[in-house]
Parts: sequence; C-alpha cells; structure tokens
Amino acid sequence: MIVQQLVFLVVLAAAVFLIRKRVVFIRNTINLGKAKDFSGTKRERLTNMLLVAFGQKKMFKKIIPAVLHLFIYIGFLVINLEVLEFVIDGVAGAHRIFAPWLGGFYSVLMNVFEFLAVAVLLACVFFLIRRNILKVPRFWSAEMGQWPRMDANLILITEIILMTAILTMNASDQILQTRDNHYVATGSLFFSSYLIPLFENLETTTLVVIERFAWWFHIIGILAFAVYVTYSKHLHIFLAFPTTYFANLEPKGHLSNMPVVTREVKSMLGLETGEAPAGETGRFGAKDVNDLTWTNLLAAYSCTECGRCTSECPANQTGKKLSPRKIMMDTRDRLETIGKTMARGGDGLNDGKTLLNDYITKEEINACTSCNACVEACPVLINPLEIIIELRRYVAMEESGSPAQWNSMFQNMETSFAPWKFSAADRFNWAKD
Ligand code: SF4
Ligand code: SF4
Repeated sequence: MIVQQLVFLVVLAAAVFLIRKRVVFIRNTINLGKAKDFSGTKRERLTNMLLVAFGQKKMFKKIIPAVLHLFIYIGFLVINLEVLEFVIDGVAGAHRIFAPWLGGFYSVLMNVFEFLAVAVLLACVFFLIRRNILKVPRFWSAEMGQWPRMDANLILITEIILMTAILTMNASDQILQTRDNHYVATGSLFFSSYLIPLFENLETTTLVVIERFAWWFHIIGILAFAVYVTYSKHLHIFLAFPTTYFANLEPKGHLSNMPVVTREVKSMLGLETGEAPAGETGRFGAKDVNDLTWTNLLAAYSCTECGRCTSECPANQTGKKLSPRKIMMDTRDRLETIGKTMARGGDGLNDGKTLLNDYITKEEINACTSCNACVEACPVLINPLEIIIELRRYVAMEESGSPAQWNSMFQNMETSFAPWKFSAADRFNWAKD
C-alpha cells in the first residue's frame, strides 16, 4: 500500500507543478494588457457572473445543447466531490474513506454521481455526433483547423472514457463487497449494477485488478485532464467566471471614447475639457496585444470556440473574411507565442510580428459593421468588437490606412460634422419646404 501512496503522491505533485507553471504563464501574458476602468457596481457584476457563468443563462437560446451542456457542467462540478475522496484515499492509502462516515447518505451520493456520469457520457456522445457526423457548419469553418477540432473531440472522448472507468470501478467493487469484507459496503448502485453480469464470473484477483486499474485510470485521467485543460479551449470552465464578472455593463453597442481625443475635440469646440488624463498619450488604438486591455486578453483565453458569434456575424454570413471567433483565437495565439518567448527570458513583444497584419488582417477588421451581434451571441459575454475597434483605431489614427472612402468620410466629419460634404448650415435645407 505504501508504494501505491508514494506513486500517488508523485503523480499528484507532478500535476500540481504543471498546472501552477501554466497558470503563471497565462497570468503573465494577461498582465501584458492595459488597465481598464470598470462600469457598474460589484453587486451588478457578481449578479452577471452568477447568471451567465454559473446559471448558463445565455446557453438556453438552443434548448437541447443547453440541457446537455448543463449535464456536463453539473457533472464536472459534482463529480469533483468524488475526486476529493479519490485524492484523500490516494494520500491516506484508504478505500472509500467517506463511506463509514456518511452511512446511507454515501449510497445516495454515489447514485447521484452515477446518474451524472451516465448523463455526461450520453451528452458527450451526442456532441461527438453533432460535431463529426452531423457536421454543424460552425464547427467546420476555416479557422477550425485540425488542432481546434481535435481539441474538442479529445475532451469529449476523454470524458466518455473517464465516466466508463467510474462505472466499471463501481460494478467490480460491488461484486468484491460480496466476496471480501475489506471492501466497504456502498449499498446498491443503480447504473453500475447493469454492468455486474459482465464481471461476476471473473476470479476475485482479476476483479481486484480491474477495480484498481479503473481507480488509477480515473484519477490519473482526471489529473491529466486538469493539466490539459489549461492548454485547451476548455479553460473556459474556470475563466468564464472572471470573464463574466469583468464584462462590460455599458449599454449594448456602446463604444468607449478615447479620453485624449475627447479632450482634444472639446478644446477645439471651446468646451470645458476637465483635467488632462494622467500619463503619456501612448499609441492610438491597438497594434499588438499589449495595446488591448487585460480583460480583452482574459477573454481570449476564455473563448470556448463555439462559433455562435461567427454564425450570427452579418459580415461572415455574406462571405467576408471576418470571423469574430477567429479574432479571439488569433489574440490567444499571439499571446501564446509571446508567452513562450517570455518564459525563455525574452521580451516576446519585439519578435517582428504584431497582432495586426501578422494574425488579423485589415481586410478582416474593415469588414466589421459594428453591429454587436457577436457580443450578443456569446454565451460567456466576450466582446470581439472591442478588439476590432481598437485595431481599426490604430489603422485609422496612426497609419491613416483606412480605405479611401472612409478617409473622405472622416474628413467630412471633421469639417462638416457629418459624413457628407455639406456644411453644417446646409444640412437641413432639404426640410425647408
Ligand atoms: S460587430 Fe462586427 S464582428 Fe461582430 S457580428 Fe457585427 S459585423 Fe460581425
Ligand atoms: S467569442 Fe464567444 S461566441 Fe465567439 S466563439 Fe468565443 S465563446 Fe463562442
């Protein structure tokens, strides 16, 4: 038993080490972003987080996937209670350490876990079919290359195997309880009882091996899953909470002004300008990830790659190159590249590449109509439009690189206060008669 405990401690320590390393990596890249002023009170933001991240409010626009996703989510939260017992058993060299303490309630809990394990298993099978056989278009668009598709499938398959391991462990355990009084009584477990006929004719030693194998497989699988998640789009399981908490509470479609420009315009118009903003003006808009706010960068790691934003985007629907999901994926890819250089002691940002041009092209950002449909569609309140606007501000204000028609519109706005080339005095001539 002591050898098993030592092996378990080594595996647990390795998982904790790898997760911590990755958390530091992600935190360092998110910290590259600029500070942000938040709208709304803490209470409003907390309510938003509870409704959207915990309550999955925005998922329920499509009821069947929403219910199945809810099963996976609740399964993830509740089955983790069982993982707690696995960890304590592993460290203490015990077997079902909570059972004697909880008595009959342990049996109820195990049956709830099994119900959730079966629900998660069926939901994962449904999602695999939907992705790979029904080929829902948003999972097959251009930015969903080999890795993003494999990432989603890997997690679904892993969940199916892990849930099967729990049911196998419980089935063999139930038979062992009748043969060896070292095995703590769990009471009858509804779903795994259906698997008992598969195992009941096996020798006791074979059953012990199967039960132990399923136990080790499940706990190592869970720890490996926990490490893998930090590299995957499934990071949203955790990051959806801060992302929704810090989400914009401004009215929908509201675009933030640039304080320096607002001040400049007010001064031109002879209006009260207030105090000059502190610090240097810096760059107008965003060329690279460090010009975005840290909440934009956090959102990039929280994106589930579900594609709801892209399938609602009018630019994408009419064949333009723009995909708001790709905007978020590109931002995360850029952060990953910079983060790897930083982890080796380099600067990361001065590698001759930038988010604009090397990852996201002007053609993409110019196709955006600022309609806000992507923001409205996102189940975790991500705002790809904020990033697009900042990139466009850089192109317009630092490079004067907007399309020629836009530049003449900007000039008319500056001189005539309207997109057209009329003087302000002539604008209402049409209404005279
Ligand atoms: S705001 Fe831009 S990116 Fe978002 S849906 Fe509208 S056109 Fe597409
Ligand atoms: S931004 Fe939101 S809607 Fe778009 S792919 Fe990411 S999670 Fe889905």
